[in-house]
Amino acid sequence: MTPTRPAFAPPPERAVFCNRTLNMRSIQAIGFDMDYTLVHYDVKAWEARAYAHVQQRLLANGHPVADLRFDPDLFSRGLIVDLQLGNIVKANRFGYVTQAAHGVQTLTHDVQRKAYSQVWVDLSEKRWVFLNTLFSLSEACLYAQLVDLYDAGKLSRDLDYRTIYELVGRTMDAAHLEGQLKAEIIAAPERFVTLDEELAQTLLDLKQAGKKLFLATNSEWHYTQPMMSWAFDRFLPGTNWRSLFDLVIVQARKPSFFDGNAPFHEVIGDAVSANAHTGPLRHGHCYRGGNAQLVQEHFGVDGEDILYVGDHVYADVHVSSQIRRWRTALILRELEDEVQHELAFEGDQVRLNQLMHEKERLDHEQATLRLALLRIDHREAPPSGTATNAHTLHERLRALRSESEALDHRIAPLARAAGELGHARWGPLMRAGADKSRLARQIERHADVYTSRVSNFLYLTPFGYLRAARGSLPHDRRGH
Ligand code: IMP
Ligand code: MG
Repeated sequence: MTPTRPAFAPPPERAVFCNRTLNMRSIQAIGFDMDYTLVHYDVKAWEARAYAHVQQRLLANGHPVADLRFDPDLFSRGLIVDLQLGNIVKANRFGYVTQAAHGVQTLTHDVQRKAYSQVWVDLSEKRWVFLNTLFSLSEACLYAQLVDLYDAGKLSRDLDYRTIYELVGRTMDAAHLEGQLKAEIIAAPERFVTLDEELAQTLLDLKQAGKKLFLATNSEWHYTQPMMSWAFDRFLPGTNWRSLFDLVIVQARKPSFFDGNAPFHEVIGDAVSANAHTGPLRHGHCYRGGNAQLVQEHFGVDGEDILYVGDHVYADVHVSSQIRRWRTALILRELEDEVQHELAFEGDQVRLNQLMHEKERLDHEQATLRLALLRIDHREAPPSGTATNAHTLHERLRALRSESEALDHRIAPLARAAGELGHARWGPLMRAGADKSRLARQIERHADVYTSRVSNFLYLTPFGYLRAARGSLPHDRRGH
């Protein structure tokens, strides 16, 4: 029987999941990223606008992209672009490719195997680009569509799969940097921002428990101010979002923020000081640029006393944990849907596991009977427990074969459904087949904890203690 959940416990999809033990009481400063962390966007709406801006720019430069449309469901975070073949792939934790698409089309198993049986995804090679954040979805969609146009001979032959990616990336950078896209968001935040009414209280609890909060975003001040104000001020009567933070850092230039020594420039009113700031940082002030080392000195704490919370697998979590040894929390909004789907599938998952055990048993018996026949052929004693007569062995093998086929028919629809949980095309974010995905590997290496949204820390409380789960190993006793 499932134990009932106490009223103060979160629903399962809102839990904070733990890779490495984290005691919130020992955390003294907490940094937050803004976009897709404190401010969550409606992915379909935001990415559709980013896509449209890039499309316009490509059109203006003579590329035949007028008929393309953004499809938010084509790809998911954690997939990997293969710049050599123009593919987007899913890999397991060892880098073995388990699914692949060329352009927008899924590759058949045979074609995929031919392309990748001798290739492992190694993210340190220039061939691969990891899709780190929800901002990557518009970029990946457009890239795949351009690959198809290129294959159809509709793009310049001077391009190749790598330079097509560079073209999309460059154009996307320009769209994010110049004012028009952001101006649209600022003008109608209600269309783009998904409010979270528990968020302000979450940060307030942490602050009131004595933790120093800071914001470190790559966004510019002129965008950060209206977005934060929209997401927080309505929930903070009598004050505003600035009162929550001891430091606000905009245009932080993560990831180099974590290992560089760029100067801070103070933001005063709406203007950024031309002079680099000297001396200690000041409480409650806002700066542009800067570096994590000085932030740490400002708070006078060790790296392990700082928790940084962000949504970008590499720029927010990988680098801050690896370079600075800060504690890290990754925000993965997609997890909510996925956990709910997995829970709804629980009964089927139990049946699938039972059928897979049955299949293993049949496979093993078939293998043993084949060995018995081989031994008989060589006039040796068959393995103990098997028949000694070749005719009986053949009969049993035939029966097993048809049992096996019937079993496969029962397994297939369940396995297919399990492979579509969370994302109809690419399946669960953190699984690749029966194994962990490459994304899951990144997360377990670099994120101490991961959770679907910042307000899940409300349930954890500033005094919570998260213990790492006991990892499973292949030799653990398996349930039947
Ligand atoms: P953060 O997540 O709060 O650090 O902010 C992310 C910032 O990066 C936002 O201002 C985005 O507009 C910007 N951004 C996201 N994707 C891209 C990109 O592909 N090129 C350039 N800027 C980007
Ligand atoms: Mg972000």
